[in-house]
Amino acid sequence: MTLPHPALSAADPELAALVGAEEQLQAETLRLIPSENYVSAAVLEASGTVLQNKYSEGYAGRRYYEGQQVIDQVERLAVARAKALFGVEHANVQPYSGSPANLAVYLAFAEPGDTVMGMALPMGGHLTHGWGVSATGKWFRGVQYGVRQDTGLIDFDEVRELALKERPKIIFCGGTALPRTIDFPAFAEIARECGAVLVADVAHIAGLIAGGAHPSPVPHADVISTTTHKTLRGPRGAMLMSREEHAKALDKAVFPGLQGGPHNQTTAAIAVALHEASQPSFRAYAQSVVANARALAEALLDRGFDLVSGGTDNHLILMDLTPKEVPGKVAAKALDRAGIVVNYNTVPYDPRKPFDPSGIRIGTPSLTSRGLGTEHMAAVADWIDRGVTAAGKEDEEALATIRSEVAELMSAHPAPGLAG
Ligand SMILES: *Cc1c(COP(=O)(O)O)cnc(C)c1O
Repeated sequence: MTLPHPALSAADPELAALVGAEEQLQAETLRLIPSENYVSAAVLEASGTVLQNKYSEGYAGRRYYEGQQVIDQVERLAVARAKALFGVEHANVQPYSGSPANLAVYLAFAEPGDTVMGMALPMGGHLTHGWGVSATGKWFRGVQYGVRQDTGLIDFDEVRELALKERPKIIFCGGTALPRTIDFPAFAEIARECGAVLVADVAHIAGLIAGGAHPSPVPHADVISTTTHKTLRGPRGAMLMSREEHAKALDKAVFPGLQGGPHNQTTAAIAVALHEASQPSFRAYAQSVVANARALAEALLDRGFDLVSGGTDNHLILMDLTPKEVPGKVAAKALDRAGIVVNYNTVPYDPRKPFDPSGIRIGTPSLTSRGLGTEHMAAVADWIDRGVTAAGKEDEEALATIRSEVAELMSAHPAPGLAG
């Protein structure tokens, strides 16, 4: 099952063994963490090339180092593909990851102490949207919106009222635990009314947008921030996109504002992922991710699970386990022993603590990359149901049985990049 790594095995058998163990884990388990995926063998290869040996501070044609004959072409290719795929005027592919990409947005459009607005972390937002423990909440004045307790949905009257009262410089929309379609036009109208820069942080759903399975933030958002490693199925990295008018401010913020040399091997792998995402097969993938999530949500509702907002429009499902009388963390750890990898997560208005919350968060990007379809979702829901029940009873035997059933289905659906 594991891949050959001859040089690594010879030079450092200890580390090679760990890589092999991780490959086996990713091959055998049902990975339901909605921010994870499997990259293709091509993306994996591109990210492990000699491009990583090269320093190239600056941008194509304007570097502070010589020897950029090839690197400039790599970065230009990635930028051109990002612009074509998302239909934007400008793309910066250098941010090291989603969090630094967002920090660059603050540097471009705000001063320390300015007010910024985003969704509260426990409501499904991201740390970097002005949450207190993050630099973005320490160095800026973060004001936070949430979802309604009765519907689990964003209340735009509430968002507008808060925005007009607080007058933020930047408004973030998007998040990490939002199972519903993001209404970009509604956010854009509010941002316009209060004179804020609207940032659509589409880290989770970039692949769905590229594949036509979620509405695009173009032309509504001023800036689009995204990671490249979630539904977009690229290497760990990020991109910032905008209209031409914001190009200079964003580029200056990323370099020299925040970062040094770009990770060229990552830029190359982003280019490959963007090429893959422009193929008809990726459109089918994105549609299938959503169809699988809907089918899984239905199957979980049939088994009496309580889903935040009552279901899903995208790749992600947030479950409140309170009615099952099993805390999220206990369930997540038991499911892990059963070969089902999820994360425990706060649910909106969670009475429990963030490190021991009421919910778990699951998603379908990874299993869809392995070719699982809607016909498999009843089995997945069944394993989750049996796993949560076993967690409540500390029934290790039941968890072991699930683990072997999961491994059997997984072995029939080899993961991209791991097929050997
Ligand atoms: C994942 C994520 C990020 C941060 O990405 P990292 O690469 O983990 O820094 C930012 N915003 C949102 C909405 C995310 O989901």
